[in-house]
Amino acid sequence: MKKIAFFITLLASLIILASCTTSKRADIVTTMFPQYDFASQIVGDKMTVSLLVPPGVEVHAYEATSKDMVAIKNAKLFIFTSFEIDTWIKDVSTLAGKDTVVMNLSEHYALEEHHHAHALAYTPLEDDDHDHDDELHFWVDPVVAMQLLDAILEQIVQIDPENEAFYRDNAEAYHEELHELHESFDLYIQNGYVDRDIFFAGHNALGLFGARYHLHIESLFESFKPDADLTSAELIAFTNAVKQANIHILFVEELAEPKAAIQIKNELAKQNYNLVILELHAYHNVTKTELEEGVRYIDLLERNIDYIKQALN
Ligand SMILES: [Zn+2]
Repeated sequence: MKKIAFFITLLASLIILASCTTSKRADIVTTMFPQYDFASQIVGDKMTVSLLVPPGVEVHAYEATSKDMVAIKNAKLFIFTSFEIDTWIKDVSTLAGKDTVVMNLSEHYALEEHHHAHALAYTPLEDDDHDHDDELHFWVDPVVAMQLLDAILEQIVQIDPENEAFYRDNAEAYHEELHELHESFDLYIQNGYVDRDIFFAGHNALGLFGARYHLHIESLFESFKPDADLTSAELIAFTNAVKQANIHILFVEELAEPKAAIQIKNELAKQNYNLVILELHAYHNVTKTELEEGVRYIDLLERNIDYIKQALN
């Protein structure tokens, strides 16, 4: 009997494993990591959530597969980022099934909302603090992230009203956690770090994050590709620029091999100049390991904040 029970368990787990790895079908289908994380944290084990972009894959270049299309048609809720990010989405009405609620995440935030709640003396975001291009990566601003979380909650409640209380509790707990982290970092920056420079090598997705906390995230070099091989002339020019700016921490983007930054670091090491390369995560996607470990948006934000504090000191 024991043996049979064991085999049934084994079979069941194999079936579950197979359905996890080969299918993107789920109650909630998402196109990018932030909404995948927010929806997952809200629904817990009450519904399934899938992420169309495979772990480690670059979101900006992603094209949906026919399997993705089937998954979207069968979903109760489909959450995409925006037409600018999910460029493969042309006409939402042809994508969705007849029972699929479609959510365009970029329609669910307002940049100025946080000012009402602020008790501290605070300089409001000026129009020139961020340009329109920054809004392409709207989810990098934690205040926006909290709004997105709340908006996703309302959509989830709409598709499964029976578990409303459970979803609201989960969303509130996550919102509170984000809010605390945001407030403490905001306070930290206001106490002596406003308008400081952070040097970043890569495609700068963190403009709104910088604007939110009054940090300047500067791209150190024009058209600098993190995975490029530098010519010796470039290498000399770049190492000189680093020394001139007296930078000791250089930030790079996630999921790109920072070849150029490593070349600069090695060149500077020969001159006894210490340069540390750290990742500033813009949440486009996570690695397979991070996904399996259940890394959340807030974990990446917390790590970003720790690294920025290192750079500021
Ligand atoms: Zn991007």
